[in-house]
Amino acid sequence: MDLAKKIVVIGAGPTGLGAAWRLQEARHPDWQLLEAASVPGGLSQSVRDPHGFTWDLGGHVLFSHYEYFDRVMDDLLESNWVEHIRESWVWMRDRFIPYPLQNNIRRLPVEDLSLCLKGLLAVHGKTASGPPPANFKEWILQQFGTGLADVFMLPYNRKVWAYKPDRLSVGWMGERVSAVDLGRILENIIRQTDDVSWGPNHKFRFPLRGGTGAIWQACWNRLSQERVHLNRHVQRIDMHRKVVRLGSGEELSYDALISTMPMEVLLRMTEGCPEVSQLAAEFRYSSSHIFGIGIEGATPESLQTKCWMYFPEPDLPFYRVTVFSNYSPNNVPEPGKYWSLMCEVSESPEKPVDSTTILSDVISGCRNAQLIPPDSRIVSSWSRRLEHGYPTPFVGRDELLGRIRPTLEQHSIFSRGRFGAWKYEVSNQDHSFMQGVEVVDRLLRGWEETTLEQPNVVNSRRNPIRPV
Ligand SMILES: Cc1cc2nc3c(=O)[nH]c(=O)nc-3n(C[C@H](O)[C@H](O)[C@H](O)COP(=O)(O)OP(=O)(O)OC[C@H]3O[C@@H](n4cnc5c(N)ncnc54)[C@H](O)[C@@H]3O)c2cc1C
Repeated sequence: MDLAKKIVVIGAGPTGLGAAWRLQEARHPDWQLLEAASVPGGLSQSVRDPHGFTWDLGGHVLFSHYEYFDRVMDDLLESNWVEHIRESWVWMRDRFIPYPLQNNIRRLPVEDLSLCLKGLLAVHGKTASGPPPANFKEWILQQFGTGLADVFMLPYNRKVWAYKPDRLSVGWMGERVSAVDLGRILENIIRQTDDVSWGPNHKFRFPLRGGTGAIWQACWNRLSQERVHLNRHVQRIDMHRKVVRLGSGEELSYDALISTMPMEVLLRMTEGCPEVSQLAAEFRYSSSHIFGIGIEGATPESLQTKCWMYFPEPDLPFYRVTVFSNYSPNNVPEPGKYWSLMCEVSESPEKPVDSTTILSDVISGCRNAQLIPPDSRIVSSWSRRLEHGYPTPFVGRDELLGRIRPTLEQHSIFSRGRFGAWKYEVSNQDHSFMQGVEVVDRLLRGWEETTLEQPNVVNSRRNPIRPV
């Protein structure tokens, strides 16, 4: 353990807060956290709009693979949680179908059902013998066949990622995409049952007050306030002198730097290693437009128990809509008198978004999909564009990361978090917080960083508590 190490953390999103939490818990004597924004939380912050509605930056639900993370959450908000059973749906062909669609194809129109079944039967038993898929599109076709691919998987994934599925790799998926279980699908058709309980976020919880951001504000409040700083924008990093320069001109030296900025931003601002800095242009990501719509009246009956809905069809601009007022009654100014929807639209150079028309397109989309009844009055419409929304798992990502990370780490720069590590498969709040905790354990104790190094392992089990 090197207690002399001066550790600087950039960013107060879940990753930076996880690092700071662990540094404080370990009583490390020399660390500072610098956050550019005026509030903590990063992408997991929440906003209260002028009409009294609370919004997350995209529908955030909290589920966890880690005992350590759960204990911190319990400690931070105690009993101020609302527990939920996930109820998610796909809206297509003018109807709601339970998610995951592949397990519930019996709800599709008969022509689509027939295409899906033919495709599934054509690939059944062949996946193991064929060549390994080179990209996500090939994986979808191998797993689901052409029917399900054309009816749902390809259009939906194009919409959510904002890139064609053949631009995405395959290694990131793990638990994230429900693989095919033909027996289960056929049984659901024969027995006419809905199959809704798949997946890691079957149960989740949400803060009773203040949206998801309340978690991270509470975490921030518990940190030693002389060590954590808002409104400190890091502008340059000198790798050789081991110094960060702030927008104010102030310089701060470090022995180890934990950066949670997007990796491509980190590379662009790092002086002293042009061979890695020039790789910044290779990263692909998508931006997210978040729209919060506050509506007068009671939640329509058809939405009263729904958490979120996916929209694969191209005539609607959003890929996902959350009934955000269902997450907590306090997400609206007066429960029962108002309700709220949150819509997400993706953007990339391959899928541009017209910012002058998108809000009205989203509202008409909600009306056309019968989410907002025709006679309902919209009392608030809030929006935010996130430049970095989804870290695309593009083809070649792992090779690129394999070239950059070791070089940065030789210079004591540890890039972690949703965009810091650029691993979508471990980029939720629990993963991000634990990436922060684990990198500190590596620096202080030499422990392995399981989340970063073995995503499939951490995602497939409940990870035991880490001793202090
Ligand atoms: C649309 C959407 C939906 C999501 N849904 C869920 C969900 O349902 N469940 C879930 O668990 N997770 C969800 N997430 C993921 C969640 O938001 C992330 O896991 C988490 O916020 C990542 O934390 P982070 O600290 O790595 O990065 P960020 O939250 O991005 O934080 C990085 C911080 O670094 C700061 N920073 C950047 N540059 C500088 C600089 N130069 N100087 C100083 N500070 C800087 C930023 O201001 C920011 O505060 C969702 C994300 C999005 C976009």
